[in-house]
Amino acid sequence: MNVIIFGPPGAGKGTQSKIMEEKFSMRQLSTGDILRAEVARESELGLKCKEIMAAGDLVSDEIIIEIIKGAMNEPESKNGVILDGFPRTIAQAEALDAMLQAEGQQIDHVLVLDVNNSELINRVLARAEESGKEQRADDNADILEKRLEVYHTQTTRVLPYYRRQGLVRMINGMDPIDQVTTSIMAVLENSAAA
Ligand code: AMP
Repeated sequence: MNVIIFGPPGAGKGTQSKIMEEKFSMRQLSTGDILRAEVARESELGLKCKEIMAAGDLVSDEIIIEIIKGAMNEPESKNGVILDGFPRTIAQAEALDAMLQAEGQQIDHVLVLDVNNSELINRVLARAEESGKEQRADDNADILEKRLEVYHTQTTRVLPYYRRQGLVRMINGMDPIDQVTTSIMAVLENSAAA
């Protein structure tokens, strides 16, 4: 099973992906985490992306697609993946479909965590405060505003692509963490049983 977890910054994608990873032996692939690791080790790729990420803009499709191609080919991805933060553009979604089709696979669900902007702002600013020295360069009020705008104006354009394929499952991300997990499990367990 391959799943996309979709939603704005602070919606709980990372938290829920980690829970699913354990329950379904799938692998979480977070393009944001992969890029942050590259930035931290100051690789050529990291240096290219650092400022774009710090400004809350999107990294180029070319770079992101290369990263995902590499990660999807690793043996750990063979049991199925939870894609967190990818795809964010139609070009990325099309590239993903081509990769999966070449392996005789597909996306089974696109789980959309729905959370309103004021709750997202509270959550991300709280995350920033709690993270101390580990604070993300883009978890501050100004850049968060930019990331939310990018999400609403660019990233959500991917949803009609998956709606047409009947894959979109809306999840109320305003619920407590456990309840969100229960809603996601209901979708995944139904399809696992089918
Ligand atoms: P995230 O942790 O998913 O919020 O990603 C952090 C930052 O990494 C984003 O604001 C972008 O700059 C970059 N990024 C992560 N995933 C993608 C993607 N699929 N396409 C373009 N940029 C991305």
